[in-house]
Amino acid sequence: MVIVMNPTATAEQIKRVIGRVHNVGLRTHIVEGEFRTIIGIIGDKKTIMSLAVEALEGVEKAVPISSSYKLVSRDFHPQSSVVDVDGVKIGGGALVVMGGPCAVESREQLLEAAEIVKAGGAQFLRGGAYKPRTSPYAFQGLEEEGLVYLAEAKAATGLKIVTEVTDANAVDLVANYADMLQIGARNMQNFHLLRAVGRSSKPVLLKRGLSATIEEWLHAAEYIVNEGNYNVVLCERGIRTYEEYTRNTLDLSAVGALKHLSHLPVIVDPSHGTGKWHLVRPMSMAAVAAGADGLMIEVHPNPAEALSDGPQSLNPKNYMSLMNDVYKLSEFLKTQSE
Ligand code: PEP
Ligand code: MN
Repeated sequence: MVIVMNPTATAEQIKRVIGRVHNVGLRTHIVEGEFRTIIGIIGDKKTIMSLAVEALEGVEKAVPISSSYKLVSRDFHPQSSVVDVDGVKIGGGALVVMGGPCAVESREQLLEAAEIVKAGGAQFLRGGAYKPRTSPYAFQGLEEEGLVYLAEAKAATGLKIVTEVTDANAVDLVANYADMLQIGARNMQNFHLLRAVGRSSKPVLLKRGLSATIEEWLHAAEYIVNEGNYNVVLCERGIRTYEEYTRNTLDLSAVGALKHLSHLPVIVDPSHGTGKWHLVRPMSMAAVAAGADGLMIEVHPNPAEALSDGPQSLNPKNYMSLMNDVYKLSEFLKTQSE
């Protein structure tokens, strides 16, 4: 249930409502909006119904939340959330781009990629130091050495760093180097890991599972938020279907569906979503038109030599041209909605 306080409710009245909820052993999540405070109540349904909070002073209404994910639902938080990653706002109206190689391969490769990503105007450098590969014989990543190169690239370019964490025990280590923790598709339902990043102070990028429904995905996000970390961004990266020409089927309807169901920002990864570099541009344009708050794009100084995901990585020239096009489209769309 969500308790919506009156815009004129005093701090004392809000405190009294929270006290009443805690007294019967229920938990609260407080959202201080621009105009009013919203109090989310989590716990036993019967106890919640017995509260009769609507009678308390300062309460405007009590709204039951029908979905089984609550904290990430739009019923709980009607305004769209903005996730601030060390000064870069995701969901605030400006398109955010995260670019970089699939994997950190070497110091030289990463620094070169970072300069290209920066020159194109992206805000984030991506790159996996821990790579969850389908085959145990494929390149598994440089691990901590890769994190060190990411930090060096950040110092050189000012780009924010987003990188994947695959193990709950490594969350603190990755958080020492990264501005944003990425949960990959293969770990979307690793609930132990979700809880661990939920206890981190770093924002989280939660990718959609390989075959996850939108509802399962939102439940995964709920695991993170339920631990107290509200800074979660969802990333559509394609799902497995019967189609084999593309690596995955990029589900752009998920952007609109998530915006309807949830307040969390949504970005799109057309690189993993299609597996083909020549489909990255049209799907990026479509994602921006569909209302995505950002894009994650694989870029490599020389895709033919990439240790992973070369076929879906843009070369520098195509990346520059894409950035020009997506920002032009994003600016145009803003003039249409004003
Ligand atoms: C990645 O972004 O590096 C990655 C492995 O993607 P996904 O988890 O979506 O497969
Ligand atoms: Mn990749």
